[in-house]
Amino acid sequence: MTATVPSTILQRRIRINLELAKKTPRSLEYILLHEMVNLLERYHNDNFMACMNKYMPSWRLYRDELNRSPLAHEEWDYSKVRHDHL
Ligand SMILES: [Zn+2]
Repeated sequence: MTATVPSTILQRRIRINLELAKKTPRSLEYILLHEMVNLLERYHNDNFMACMNKYMPSWRLYRDELNRSPLAHEEWDYSKVRHDHL
């Protein structure tokens, strides 16, 4: 399996806020997919959107659901998250 994954992807890390464990399973799926797609495509460009649409056609719905339920004591808008790589 790892033979098909470019080594540059394997060397990168995904860090997840533990507060997100309180979210719905599909919100977590959206977050994980978003981060994994960011390993393939670092910018939120058309290629990023195409990958998200391919693997999770309803990702915008899940993103909006996530953004409607802020974390305790934090303002949270996942659509505006600035990633380390950006
Ligand atoms: Zn991203």
